[in-house]
Amino acid sequence: MAIPPNVNPSAFNAALSAWRAAVGPEWVFTSEEDVALYRDAYSIFWGEPEERLASAAVAPATLEQVQAVVRTANQHRIPLYTISTGRNLAYGGSAPVYSGSVVLDLKRMNRVLEVNERNAYALVEPGVSYFDLYDAITRAGVDLWIDPPDPGWGSVVGNALDGGAGWTASPFRDHFGSHCGMEVVLADGEVVRTGMGALPDSKSWQHNRWGYGPWVDGLFRQSNFAVVTKMGFYLMPRPEALFTANVTSERDADIVPMLDVLNLLENMHQVNGSTQIFGGGFARPGGGRAPAWTIQVPIYGPENVVRAQMQFAKSKFTAIPGVTFTEGELLRTPLTQEQLARVRQVNFGIPNLSTFAQLGRSPANLDPAGGHIGFSPIVPRTGESLLEFKAFYRENLAKLSGGENLGILGPVYMTCWDRTLVCLIMFPIGRDKTHNAKIRRAFEGWVKLAAERGWAEYRAPTVYQDLIARTYSYNNNSLLRLRETIKDAVDPNGILSPGRYGVWPKHLRKA
Ligand SMILES: Cc1cc2nc3c(=O)[nH]c(=O)nc-3n(C[C@H](O)[C@H](O)[C@H](O)COP(=O)(O)OP(=O)(O)OC[C@H]3O[C@@H](n4cnc5c(N)ncnc54)[C@H](O)[C@@H]3O)c2cc1C
Repeated sequence: MAIPPNVNPSAFNAALSAWRAAVGPEWVFTSEEDVALYRDAYSIFWGEPEERLASAAVAPATLEQVQAVVRTANQHRIPLYTISTGRNLAYGGSAPVYSGSVVLDLKRMNRVLEVNERNAYALVEPGVSYFDLYDAITRAGVDLWIDPPDPGWGSVVGNALDGGAGWTASPFRDHFGSHCGMEVVLADGEVVRTGMGALPDSKSWQHNRWGYGPWVDGLFRQSNFAVVTKMGFYLMPRPEALFTANVTSERDADIVPMLDVLNLLENMHQVNGSTQIFGGGFARPGGGRAPAWTIQVPIYGPENVVRAQMQFAKSKFTAIPGVTFTEGELLRTPLTQEQLARVRQVNFGIPNLSTFAQLGRSPANLDPAGGHIGFSPIVPRTGESLLEFKAFYRENLAKLSGGENLGILGPVYMTCWDRTLVCLIMFPIGRDKTHNAKIRRAFEGWVKLAAERGWAEYRAPTVYQDLIARTYSYNNNSLLRLRETIKDAVDPNGILSPGRYGVWPKHLRKA
């Protein structure tokens, strides 16, 4: 049996006994076989000494059991690593940031506590997956949509806490941004409800997110200040229709006015869907060239409204000389079976796992990589910045790949959230240690070069959370130091997810 670092075996045994008494012996996992299930299948250190590994796992089913587990860990100074469903593939899976931590696995806490159609929200526990919430809403016959990320098996709470995004309309795609009210357990076992939830017997917890006084919810995003045990989320009333258009241009420089128009339409809330930007210009297999740029413009809403909004969007885009605007199909909801079979279902609030087929084995790719991790810096949402990133990628790819073709893909331009442009570079990883080492060198090089241009990531795999945190170094790391001050105050023994997003407890802090 593995023992967490700096914990003596008798203290660990005492903690295991207390946890068994609190949650039931069958929900405390210490065998090698069980603990191996918490390995990160996409680890870039797979099978190497630096791979992050859990020592054990404990799976409470209620708030009171979470409190008991945390209190015991605090008493014996045992590091915990909280997961909800633990499917954080490409960002660390369910493995801890600090090797040897005990995984606090909340997937048994899987109750949908409330779905409110009239005010369009849900209150859920951490173990509720997108599939679970979709099923609960469907069973209840409620006319609301959820906003799933590509893999539907993840946790609504866990995805939001890691800064995840989905594919329906704004503002619902911003998963943390569309939450309303939290319940958290602090390192000493204390329970806190945020926003209106702090009112005893509150009737408006999921009706107003700000409550009264300083707003603390942001402290629990990408953090290690508490264990989140409940979260409210706004849901989207089913839109009558989705109307999509494609805007194309043959000229590279046209991305500048095209993006300005897109920004204007989104900032005016005339375009609310998950827009996509594709760079092209390459020769097509059957002849001809792909347009230099294609922007997909999806609009959700009542049919007569989206038709009018599309006319407005068309008038703005076609004012750019040389730009082509092509209206696509207007799809009325709910979709027919035939339509469902040919659309990307996450755009219609339907969770699924089809994303895993895209980069998997196919006649065109007989030996796919085991997985990918991404470097996803946020750059200003202007055409000039996008073109700068495109040139930056082209100029540095060979050098940062050591002159080899490592299968790195990019850049992918993502407009996940209002006002945000993410330029994603994808790195194939697998079980080949030599290849993984080359990818690590390349990844670290991209982080450094991008930071020199003022670009940094919004989310990172656990093994790179320190590296990225260090790029946010303004004024001698004052933001990190503030976070460390908070960490020391709310978790003085440093038991909750040490190291998550670069925040370490005092005793593990490096100089
Ligand atoms: C092919 C592919 C496609 C993907 N597409 C998307 C996508 O479209 N959008 C997207 O956002 N992601 C995407 N991902 C990334 C990831 O798989 C999802 O974000 C997934 O939902 C995260 O896993 P989870 O929901 O099980 O969260 P968890 O693993 O449960 O949680 C994530 C992290 O949050 C913290 N945490 C979780 N629960 C708690 C809690 N209760 N209290 C305190 N801290 C907690 C932990 O540090 C945990 O590691 C994709 C990954 C792959 C491989």
